[in-house]
Amino acid sequence: MSLTIVGSVAFDAIQTPYGQTDKIIGGAGSYICLASSYFTKTQNVIAVVGEDFPEEYISILKDHGTDTEGLQIKKGEKTFFWSGKYHENMNSRETLVTELNVLEHFDPIVPDAYQNTEYLMLGNLSPIVQRQVIERLSNRPKLIVMDTMNFWMDILLDELKKTIAMVDVLTINDEEAEQLSGKKNLVEAAEVIMEMGPSTVIIKKGEHGALLFNKEGKVFSAPALPLRQVFDPTGAGDTFAGGFTSYLAKTGDISFDNMKKAIIAGSALASFCVEKFGTEKLVGLAEETITERINKFVELSQFDTNI
Ligand code: AMP
Repeated sequence: MSLTIVGSVAFDAIQTPYGQTDKIIGGAGSYICLASSYFTKTQNVIAVVGEDFPEEYISILKDHGTDTEGLQIKKGEKTFFWSGKYHENMNSRETLVTELNVLEHFDPIVPDAYQNTEYLMLGNLSPIVQRQVIERLSNRPKLIVMDTMNFWMDILLDELKKTIAMVDVLTINDEEAEQLSGKKNLVEAAEVIMEMGPSTVIIKKGEHGALLFNKEGKVFSAPALPLRQVFDPTGAGDTFAGGFTSYLAKTGDISFDNMKKAIIAGSALASFCVEKFGTEKLVGLAEETITERINKFVELSQFDTNI
């Protein structure tokens, strides 16, 4: 098993009805690395930050087993910055600022040690960069999982479609699935997206869980844990994707049945992510705490079939 993660490593500033943060560690890549650390001992990261990115933030990733040889630090440049605001309804958010900075001319380097990676998680980032990483790997990984967002659909749709055509699994939220496919119905949306290339599509529905579809017509519905308080949903989607992919990497089994387990693993980690600001809750989680949470998901959706 080996897992390589591509994605933004960033500064985020978040506003929710419960408070707000200054620039804290964020980015899809950071969430995915932290989530993955609970299933894989090490994970490689391919990303870029500016000179302003604190060493202590990089240490958080390293302390969770992340190999940072593929993390470029650009002298004299600024780290990607994103700011978002959530209103009373935590399911919808407003992007206040997206400063690409160092991401604007990101030329990803794949270190030799990452070349034979078996699992590749393309976290949210320019679809051109995501594709460059696939092309710069000498062997195609056993499984490529990709996540994206409306930002890239708005500005680079053709490039996005080219990259989607090269991956095995696409994770996407419900609104974005509608935007990408032109279909309001999620079953139809998944079918249209699978025609674009991926054999599996996961549609994330925030507090309503996630749906897994594959080209053979199989479907699985995973719940989200009903929580009294969602403190900050930022990064939940990335955490979910990281938990999903790293569970598959850990078990080495990419069957539909194992993907069902992987979805629950991802959902459990995402349920921690939303309990505190940013990545705070994903740092230093104990194994028993995760196991207890996974068991809650089992209880939540288990019923006697003798009706
Ligand atoms: P999520 O809440 O899972 O959609 O992901 C939130 C994370 O995505 C934040 O930590 C942001 O830094 C990151 N992000 C937001 N916009 C972009 C973008 N255009 N490209 C890459 N990462 C982004």
